[in-house]
Amino acid sequence: MTDIKSPEERSRNMSKIRSKDTKPEVWLRKRLFERGYRYRKNVSNVPGHPDAWLAKYNTAVFVHGCFWHRHEGCKYAYTPKSRIEFWTEKFQKNVERDRRVSIELEKAGIRRLIVWECTVKKMIKDEALLNQMLESIDHFLRSEETMLEI
Ligand SMILES: [Zn+2]
Repeated sequence: MTDIKSPEERSRNMSKIRSKDTKPEVWLRKRLFERGYRYRKNVSNVPGHPDAWLAKYNTAVFVHGCFWHRHEGCKYAYTPKSRIEFWTEKFQKNVERDRRVSIELEKAGIRRLIVWECTVKKMIKDEALLNQMLESIDHFLRSEETMLEI
């Protein structure tokens, strides 16, 4: 059988697949699954629509993009040089929304696991760090703590 796709098309398809697989939340969900955790995606009845919902642990998992969610002190949370007003307003809204969601979750007695995108990037590159982070997650889920941010 002949492959009728041009090399350009093929590499385009490949990069599409790759970028989908390396989306931080997809990547993290896979690691959690391998670790034995079972979750639901797209739960609409949990405030903030978490990236994963661990019902057994009453925990909502959020993978936060550092740029959009303004990770404090993080190099990815830069402010673009143009249209500063536009960006500032947008960022403020996102931060306010996150705060609101946190309060709603707290009121509902739901625990939060927040994983920053830059942490995911580091975990992808560094297996020792990945194991260390997974151990922190294990510890948190089995504890009485209400929030873990890594
Ligand atoms: Zn960050």
